[in-house]
Amino acid sequence: MDFLTLSPVPLPADLVKLRHEVRAFLHDEIAAGRITAHCDQWLAGWDPGFSRRLGSRGWIGMAFPERYGGSDRGALARFVVTEELLAAGAPVAAHWIADRQSGQALMNFGTEEQRRTFLPRIARGECYFAIGMSEPDTGSDLASVRTRATRVEGGWKLDGTKIWTSGAHHAHAMIALVRTAPRDENRHAGLTQVIVELPDPSVQVRPINLLTGEHHFNEVVFQDTFVPDSRVLGEPGAGWKQVTSELAHERSGPERILSTFPLLVEALRALADRGATVDRVRLGELVARLWSLRQMSLAVAGRLEHGRDPAVAAAIVKDLGTQFEGTLIDAVRLMVGVEPDLGSPHRLPRMMAEAILHSPGFTLRGGTNEILRGIVAKTLRVS
Ligand SMILES: Cc1cc2nc3c(=O)[nH]c(=O)nc-3n(C[C@H](O)[C@H](O)[C@H](O)COP(=O)(O)OP(=O)(O)OC[C@H]3O[C@@H](n4cnc5c(N)ncnc54)[C@H](O)[C@@H]3O)c2cc1C
Repeated sequence: MDFLTLSPVPLPADLVKLRHEVRAFLHDEIAAGRITAHCDQWLAGWDPGFSRRLGSRGWIGMAFPERYGGSDRGALARFVVTEELLAAGAPVAAHWIADRQSGQALMNFGTEEQRRTFLPRIARGECYFAIGMSEPDTGSDLASVRTRATRVEGGWKLDGTKIWTSGAHHAHAMIALVRTAPRDENRHAGLTQVIVELPDPSVQVRPINLLTGEHHFNEVVFQDTFVPDSRVLGEPGAGWKQVTSELAHERSGPERILSTFPLLVEALRALADRGATVDRVRLGELVARLWSLRQMSLAVAGRLEHGRDPAVAAAIVKDLGTQFEGTLIDAVRLMVGVEPDLGSPHRLPRMMAEAILHSPGFTLRGGTNEILRGIVAKTLRVS
């Protein structure tokens, strides 16, 4: 049952120092008015300048080798930095996907030319990626993607539609999962990952607004979109194996616990300002649950650091973590009695509204909780 083991991970002194450096940097950014805390900033906080400032400090691409512009400090260092950024509600969306998973996919499966083209720009916070997995009628059942790639001279032509594609309207590239061979009994065969560089006149990116009215995700339509052979990622036909390893990175991080954490901080600050007493039992339960999840999430980073498969452990933490993100909203509502208001000049009602209106996506994005439980159950059955 090694795949379920979540061993405690004590952080070494250099990472404690790193945490303090990140906190000091964030303190300065907030004090100077360059950034403002919001909930769910890893989806919604798009700030290229902030991404570049993080990149210049070596805090993007921390898991990439130095020869590709990274700092080669590994998964635990990345955990510490991302945890601090999320806890502060900092605007990290622009580089998030590229740093978390597309860069890793390029490291694992990319050619030398692809790595040298994209990774240094990702690490500088200047190159953003989108994930092209979901399609209309094909979210959970990823193997049934219908976007077709047809062989042509020098590459492939894509036709089809992706949906819920976060950040595609700003992204410099999307890694899309496409069908390069017809479906047969083996549903996982014939799939390939390709890098589609954006913008491209043959790719339509149409906005889909969130409940808040914000534009963060899209429908993306390929019509005779040419992808040269040099932009096939990994082996043609090996897309399923590659995409599932990418999903492990997508599901394993502290963002699956901390999307609403800034709301808790803001609520406690507001209560303290009012001189109000807090229901200590309720708060204690919340913090204990958060701390347990945080230790579990850190243990998943420990698995990544030591090259152990994180997929099943990440599925468990993501399921529990995203439920917690919603519970936190309910608990805060009971504690503070403030009316949510997206347009409020005050932080607490504004954050409350952000958290509530973003919350339907928490247990869906990156694979629904039912699907995650299916992964855990199947693994237990065969072990
Ligand atoms: C905020 C947000 C951002 C997103 N960003 C991206 C992105 O950048 N790129 C991308 O490719 N996708 C993205 N997605 C899409 C996301 O991955 C899908 O929504 C998700 O995989 C579910 O797919 P679906 O919406 O088609 O739901 P469906 O697959 O239709 O599922 C509907 C319901 O049925 C349940 N269900 C389905 N199959 C099973 C089963 N076998 N067993 C039990 N229950 C089942 C599901 O759990 C769910 O409750 C995003 C989604 C959100 C909410």
